[in-house]
Parts: sequence; C-alpha cells; structure tokens
Amino acid sequence: MEQPQGSHVAILPSPGMGHLIPLVEFAKRLVHHHSFINVTFIVPVDGPPSKAQKSVLDALPSSMNYIFLPPVNLDDVPEGTMIEPIISLTVVRSLPSLRDSLKSLIERTKVAALVVDLFGTDAFDVAREFNVSPYIFFPSTAMALSLFLYLPKLDQMVSCEYRDHPEPLKIPGCIPMHGKDLLDPVQDRKNEAYKCVLHHAKRYRLAEGIMVNSFMELEPGAVQNLQAEEAGKPPVYPVGPLVNIGSSGKVDGSECLKWLDEQPHGSVLFISFGSGGSLSYDQITELALGLEMSEQRFLWVVRPPNDKVANATFFSHVQNRKDPFDFLPKGFLERTKGRGVVLPSWAPQAQILSHGSTGGFLTHCGWNSVLESVVNGVPLIAWPLYAEQKMNAVMLTEDIKVAVRAKANENGLVGREEILKVTKALMEGEDGKKLRSRMKELKDAAARVLSEDGSSTKALSELALKWKSKK
Ligand code: UDP
Repeated sequence: MEQPQGSHVAILPSPGMGHLIPLVEFAKRLVHHHSFINVTFIVPVDGPPSKAQKSVLDALPSSMNYIFLPPVNLDDVPEGTMIEPIISLTVVRSLPSLRDSLKSLIERTKVAALVVDLFGTDAFDVAREFNVSPYIFFPSTAMALSLFLYLPKLDQMVSCEYRDHPEPLKIPGCIPMHGKDLLDPVQDRKNEAYKCVLHHAKRYRLAEGIMVNSFMELEPGAVQNLQAEEAGKPPVYPVGPLVNIGSSGKVDGSECLKWLDEQPHGSVLFISFGSGGSLSYDQITELALGLEMSEQRFLWVVRPPNDKVANATFFSHVQNRKDPFDFLPKGFLERTKGRGVVLPSWAPQAQILSHGSTGGFLTHCGWNSVLESVVNGVPLIAWPLYAEQKMNAVMLTEDIKVAVRAKANENGLVGREEILKVTKALMEGEDGKKLRSRMKELKDAAARVLSEDGSSTKALSELALKWKSKK
C-alpha cells in the first residue's frame, strides 16, 4: 500500500483480546481525528492467530495495516506459569521479527512512535535502535497505572508479602487497598509473574509518554496524581473511555440480539466473564440455580467449567464439545427457556451492552467490560476473577459506587442465595436505582470527554501533534 505523507505509528499489542480491542479503538480514534497519522499493527503470537483476533484486525479501516509476526515457540514454558510471564515472553521472543518489521516499515515511511501495552516494554530497545519514540498504552485503570509506577518503591518499602501487610496500602491518589486485593501477579513475590511485573514497572519510566484508558471524572484522584509533574515520570495522557462500540468480531450474535429486541426495556441481566474467565463446575451450578431462583431475564455467556484456574479460557482455545452446555444443572435450560438465553464461549458484548433491553451486567470487572458498561450507563454486579479485577471491583463498589459485589462464602463459592440477592438488588431494588443513576452521570461524563473539545480528544491531539512534528 502506498504510504501518504505524514507520521506512522507502529502498535505492538501483547497477546489477549482485552489488550487488542482498546488498542484498536485507540488507533481508530487517532486516525479518524488526525488523518496525517498512519498506523500499522505488528502482532506477536504464540500460535495461529485466533478467530477473534483476526476478525477484529480484519475490520480495521483501510488506512490501517496489520501483520502477524511469526509465532514464537513457548513449549519450554513450565506448566502452571502465570499468564503475565507468558505474555511477556511472547513479546521478548518476537523481538527479532519485530526488528525486521520495523526496519522494513522505516525504509518506506517515517515512523514516529512505537506503542506497546502493559507487558511490552522490552520492545523499547528495538524502538530506540531506530530512533523511534517508545510509548505505552495502558489498557486498564489509572489506579493500576499508579500502582505500576509506584511498585518499584513499594517493593523496597514493604518486606512481607503484600497480602500479609497489616494496613491497607496507599497507592498514590487511590482509595486505600488491602494487599490481597492487588493484582494477581503481585500476590506471590517469589513467583516469576511478580518479577515480570516489577521488571516492566521499572521500565515504564523509559517511555516518552503513557496513554491510559480512563478519564478524570471516572478516577479523579488517580488521574490528578498521574498528571502531577514528577521528575522522571513520563507525561500521562488520559484518552479514555476507548471502547469497542461496533462489532465484537465475527460471532453469530444475531439470534441473541433478536431475542433482546423482544424483551422489556432494561429488564435483562447480561452475564459474561471476559475473554479469559472461567468458573468451576460447582460455581456454574450455583450461578445457574441462583439465576433460576431470581426469575430475572438473563443472557449468559457460558464457558466450560475449569476447577483449577479462573482464567482457563486464555489457555484453552476453541473447544469443540458436542453439547456445549452439558455441564449445566439438569433441566436448567428447559426451566428457564424464554426468560434466559445461554451462549457458548463468545457474545457480541458491545451490541448487548448498548441494547435498550439490557439493564444490568454481571461482570468479572475486566476494564474493557467496565468501560463498555460505563458508556452505556449499565450498572454492575462485580465478580472479579483474575488479573487486576479485584482492585477494579473495590474501586467500583466502594469508590465510584456503580456496582454491587457478589460475595463468596467460606468455601470460596458465590452461593445461589447470594446470586439471588445481588441480582434482585441490582435489577429491582432501591440500591440498584442509585447505582443506575450514578452510572448515568458517568455515561454523560464519558460522552463529554470524548466530544470535540473534551479532555480525552484534546489529549489525543496533543499526542498526534507531537508525533507529527517528530523529525
Ligand atoms: N468480549 C466480547 N464477547 C465476549 C467476551 C468478551 O466481545 O463474549 C470483549 C468485551 O466486549 C471486551 C473484551 O472482550 O471488549 C474483554 O476485555 P476485558 O478487559 O473486559 O476482559 P479480559 O478479557 O481482558 O479479561
């Protein structure tokens, strides 16, 4: 493709749909508002690209390109390795092919910046070789970004495991947080995952700028703190909420959308645990029976059970089961027919959340899911599973107050009675009304920051002009 005059931005998304989707939205908005910017996605993979990945990239506007790097081999990674080192290693092992791709891009056009995400900072060295400015797109909260920037200090200040720390920890600008609620990979400081996060956290200061998928009205304390000048801290640009508002990939969702069309306004509870979430067999049973008892309308993305980890879907690609729902309680589907719909593995979430019939979202609190709910004003039931989701759940329930928390019992299960309680509270109760009205305020604020002269639009322009003027 012939490259028009302007500046080129190379984007390296680390594996995971939760990373790719907001980066794609970032790129789309960048190019839409600043036509002198061109974008190429350079995508590292550890196997054949997934259907979901391909469909998101295939839907890119024609002014953007993408290439998949040759898949890296991770056969030597020990079983049980956490997802963060796996993601990071995929990037590290892709560096030679990234170098080749960047070189060939630079031969054709002026590349102003290389944008990586959470665990991609090892690619900075390649960017520097070519005098390309390194940037980070942080797809999570301003709170988690504050923690990343603070982590090297925290690591020195605290000697025990964070989860054993007697006091809640004070991340700058954020609601105090118990160590046990911090993100998964910092829960065991001897684990490779902690070392991996700390490694990247230390390298965050090497970036020339950090874009965060949030906005002031949503996280005032954290955003203010991130924007305060501090020696050695890169400028932070709140550019959110960047969410997928169109298609969620090529999934056949038309049936469930048709079903939604027939339901009363605001009556359906949508239930989904992101692109990686999974529940144990017993937990699925409790959720099913709780939903049945609640007599609420629901639309549930049901994944096969996994009794070992909460993010099994990241590790197991497409599962071809004869009956995708054979693990649900006997008779459940028949008893809830008409009132409830179950979908195997993947749903057109963006369309579901923007549908008028959707009145609540039971979510694992992945940040993209939360933002998609914010822009549509849909209140939440918080059911965190992995990554930084417990931190998000604390913020959503105790700070921003747009969610009710589904609490686990002493066996670690969210029981059917609890599911009944939170579902009723959100969909019918007075508390639900308050959460809904607070969500509506945030929805309006989100629309404002994304408007022509809104703060997120301005932050994006500042970046674009910087990249344009780069020699
Ligand atoms: N998603 C979707 N359909 C699904 C599950 C997820 O479209 O069935 C999309 C969802 O809309 C969001 C992303 O995948 O944009 C998941 O990101 P999130 O940060 O919520 O969670 P993660 O998958 O990273 O845990």
